[in-house]
Amino acid sequence: MQMKKKVILSLLALVILNACGTTAFTGRKQLLVFSDEAVSALSDQSYAEFLQSAVISKDALHKEMIRTVGNRMVTALTAYLEGIGQPDYLTGLNWEFQLVKDPAVNAFCLPNGKIVLFEGILNFADNPNHLAIVIGHEMGHAVARHGNERMSQQALLQSAGQIATQVFGQTKYGQNEQAVKLFAQAFAFGSNVGIVLPFSRKHEYEADRIGLYIMALAGYDIYQTPNFWEKMMAHNHSSSFDFLSTHPADIKRIAAIAEILEEAAKYYRDPELRVK
Ligand SMILES: [Zn+2]
Repeated sequence: MQMKKKVILSLLALVILNACGTTAFTGRKQLLVFSDEAVSALSDQSYAEFLQSAVISKDALHKEMIRTVGNRMVTALTAYLEGIGQPDYLTGLNWEFQLVKDPAVNAFCLPNGKIVLFEGILNFADNPNHLAIVIGHEMGHAVARHGNERMSQQALLQSAGQIATQVFGQTKYGQNEQAVKLFAQAFAFGSNVGIVLPFSRKHEYEADRIGLYIMALAGYDIYQTPNFWEKMMAHNHSSSFDFLSTHPADIKRIAAIAEILEEAAKYYRDPELRVK
């Protein structure tokens, strides 16, 4: 028994050693058991299912605005990461921006870079700068591989016992039943289509930070961000299909955003040229 325990522990240690990554921009060490490709493929399946049940918005004006902002953010992020020799952070990300006909004040991003906004959020984000705040935050989750990290943490928790060898027989494993289950748990996707479980506080703050950096790289006005979140916070939300239920905003979080604005401003090529 002792021996078995020892074997499992050393296996887990091996997995952790082999499965550490660092986040883009912030350089935080993170546990990544899955390959980017595997997580991306799982996201593709969920996204296809989501699109089958969702109604795509007919609001041509806002759809165009979202695509324009999204593409500009993607172009800026890609150029930056390639420029500093870190294009690997883009592996598995096939960005796409959708607007669905749904009054919920909501938005989400899957780990494959598919970003979905619900029409309800346009009540708060109806200009390019505000859309860039929402899109930047969602892109932040994706580029920091928060989905993979959450799945990996759950895999580790669930596997600390007797199934350690079974699950971790190989690191960076591809798509199998276990991975499909973990993805479903990590995102609660499927039964509640369109609901992505809340990320941890740490992930929220990190997505805020990276979102601001991407906004600045793309030339959007990061200084509108605290106001935007205050407006969102004041919105009396009652539905569980709500952006604030998955992205809890409070005074502390808004204060944290305000504190990093100057640092994020360093990512502007020319702050004078930012979108008004
Ligand atoms: Zn978030």
